[in-house]
Amino acid sequence: ALVVRHRIRSAGRWAKAMAILQELEDKCGTSIGKLRQVADAMTVEMHAGLASEGGSKLKMIISYVDNLPTGDERGSFYALDLGGTNFRVLRVLLGGKDKRVVKQEFEEVSIPPDLMIGTSDALFDFIAEALKKFVDTEEEDFHLSHGRQRELGFTFSFPVKQTSIASGTLVKWTKGFSIEDAVGQDIVAELTKSLERVGLDMRVAALVNDTIGTLAGGRYDNPDVIAAVILGTGTNAAYVERAHAIPKWQGLLPKSGEMVINMEWGNFRSSHLPLTEYDQAMDVESLNPGEQIFEKIISGMYLGEILRRVLCRMADEAAFFGDTVPPKLKIPFILRTPHMSAMHHDTSSDLKVVGSKLKDILEISNTSLKTRKVIVELCEIISIRGARLAAAGILGILKKLGRDTVKEGEKQSSVIALDGGLYEHYSKFSNALESTLKDTSRLRIRSNGSSSRNGVINSLRSYGAMDQLCTGFCE
Ligand code: BGC
Ligand code: MG
Repeated sequence: ALVVRHRIRSAGRWAKAMAILQELEDKCGTSIGKLRQVADAMTVEMHAGLASEGGSKLKMIISYVDNLPTGDERGSFYALDLGGTNFRVLRVLLGGKDKRVVKQEFEEVSIPPDLMIGTSDALFDFIAEALKKFVDTEEEDFHLSHGRQRELGFTFSFPVKQTSIASGTLVKWTKGFSIEDAVGQDIVAELTKSLERVGLDMRVAALVNDTIGTLAGGRYDNPDVIAAVILGTGTNAAYVERAHAIPKWQGLLPKSGEMVINMEWGNFRSSHLPLTEYDQAMDVESLNPGEQIFEKIISGMYLGEILRRVLCRMADEAAFFGDTVPPKLKIPFILRTPHMSAMHHDTSSDLKVVGSKLKDILEISNTSLKTRKVIVELCEIISIRGARLAAAGILGILKKLGRDTVKEGEKQSSVIALDGGLYEHYSKFSNALESTLKDTSRLRIRSNGSSSRNGVINSLRSYGAMDQLCTGFCE
């Protein structure tokens, strides 16, 4: 009788787990119809954000970048990239049209977690120190002509209200950062203070968002690049807009007639977005509740955390891992997207990798194959929702530019530069993004894959691991 009762109970638990799985799948649905609605909503918000300051959840920030590299650039340049998890210092020697990137050197430092939530001075002093050490290792061939001050391109991957090409105030932090006294401050002034403190004579020549660095790097390599998308710890997009189409722009029309816009699409939200109770709870408990909703269902910082939350509910309500909820599973952000990706890509017949991740990270052992299969399904649901929504975002940009359809006989090619660890390392994510773009548009989509990976770089661009997605009619 005991055995029978046990069987009934465990059948009940399994049914409950399946119900939770099914509910997640339903709530995360991204039918083509829904994706089109999301893309249309994105286009509408783009217009609203360009029309007036504060006109939309999309800030549509004017970058003051009205010219992009051509490949003719020459000279030595320094760059600094402060992103989500790491920061990099880099120098590059550009040799013009024929020689292109003659030499490049970089160093990558991971940001100590306490600095992400400390003070502005502590963060920028740390960066300035690292930059100084790097400059000290400069070799002969990078030396500038006598008396010229070194110039620095600063890629800062957070929303900044630009006041010129080389100044701008921090609107808010995103991702894992929260340094209150930096909000509202001029980021270049903050960095410059620290450069002076450490005795480094350098001038910040440009302050750009990472999307803009990627756009510039893409254009350096390919004149058809019109937009850039970052899918990493966070997510965002930038694109080239006609200056005429920016009603809120008060300044002189640039000679090029163009202006690069940093969309800050991570903050997009729409009633069409498929949101779940897990997303809502994660948002409420986050460092920035109510903000960056699109980012929170797409980007690398959050996918693993969403999975953890679903597993927690299954553990709690369906005894998915036995009678108690495994204590480690209760720790926010313990399950990271790279772990999730490793489990999702597990090709072994007994799902070995899933088993070992559960054991190593969550201290859950002896799971059944059936259980592990469910976990892979959860990875699929969560990551594919993100990938398909990112594709819808790209479609929104193409629509805004009138490049989502190509007329008969026309050979227009639009290239999107893509970068970020999520896109680069989570191949089921990137594959889904590309195939979704094919399914939702009538464009011919070609992925250039790693063809551009070797060393596309310029003074604004930070590191060279970028893919390009080509839409339209490509040869
Ligand atoms: C930031 C953007 C940035 C993106 C990708 C977002 O959280 O708001 O400025 O471009 O992450 O790094
Ligand atoms: Mg980055």
